[in-house]
Amino acid sequence: MREINSSMKIQYAQRLLLSFGLILFLLLYYLESAHANGGGGNVYIEPSVTLIDQSIKINPGTYMTYTLDGLTPGAKTGIKINVTGGMNNDIFAYLLDTENYSRFIRKQKFLTYIQNSKVVYQNAFELSLPQSGPYYLVLDNTNSILSSKNVQVYVMSVLNQPSEQHIALKKGLEEFYGKLSEMFDFPGFNMYVRHCGEENAFSSPDITICFELMEGAYKRGNRTFIAWTMLHELGHSLLRLWDYPLWDNEDAADEFVTVLVLMWNNSGARVALRQAVSELLSKRSDLEAKALLTRSDRHSISIQRARNILQWEQNADDLKRRWFKIFVPHIKTYQLQQLKSKPESWMDLYLIENELKRR
Ligand SMILES: [Zn+2]
Repeated sequence: MREINSSMKIQYAQRLLLSFGLILFLLLYYLESAHANGGGGNVYIEPSVTLIDQSIKINPGTYMTYTLDGLTPGAKTGIKINVTGGMNNDIFAYLLDTENYSRFIRKQKFLTYIQNSKVVYQNAFELSLPQSGPYYLVLDNTNSILSSKNVQVYVMSVLNQPSEQHIALKKGLEEFYGKLSEMFDFPGFNMYVRHCGEENAFSSPDITICFELMEGAYKRGNRTFIAWTMLHELGHSLLRLWDYPLWDNEDAADEFVTVLVLMWNNSGARVALRQAVSELLSKRSDLEAKALLTRSDRHSISIQRARNILQWEQNADDLKRRWFKIFVPHIKTYQLQQLKSKPESWMDLYLIENELKRR
């Protein structure tokens, strides 16, 4: 029987955190720093790591074991299993301690930490385990005579304290927030990075970024999409905090991030735009349309979002002009003075001067 130890996976997850910080840095490179202090927002990073993120095929009459070790007793461990194959898309899954694992191997009665061990299509388990380990996650296809099963296994665990990478990510996001508040006035909001059980991000207007989203983008070789998504959520948040009626409109949030990236116009920002378009173009429209019918997702089909972005890019000056009107009342005085002293061709100088007079 095959066994995979989880320690290599831990390093993988930590690399992800690092690349996220780097991308934010690239995007922020152009925000000029002033001496103002940003008020309000806090950054919370869940000190969790992904232990297993793998798709495997388990042949009929066999089982697969993953060893989990070094867990924090009492902290959250999350296990998600997706199965396809066979008549019913199901498999038995057990989480065993050392004693019960040896009972399982000897084909004796055993106790498992997972309730309802038969996973049909998909199950998610949230556990709080009493010891650091080792534990054995067994995916058991021995009942099956003919069918192999394709299984996606995802295991995350909360550490008892943040790692260096968690701390670096927190610092990166705090820097991002600080620079943002040197640029704009806005009521404070918090930022969260955590495992969510899905590849997603949210604005409420607090912003949540899921580790799963970072991992998914990384796997597809599209690292800047994380930063793009974060700025999309920022669009929802700022428009809402500034009291604009379109804050919950998905196309408006896409337009917000596009214009921001076009205004920054540094190499990191341009790469982010290219990668966002290619990420959106890679989605399959037919599957998305199906998902839209069953979920209440308000985003346009990805291919349409990609087309929008390319169109906005082609009319960049017009886009910047329109959004500049929205930004000016919220740009810090110091920054407005800077812009006034060296305006770009698309900037309405009259708008800047009027705003400065008004203050
Ligand atoms: Zn959105």
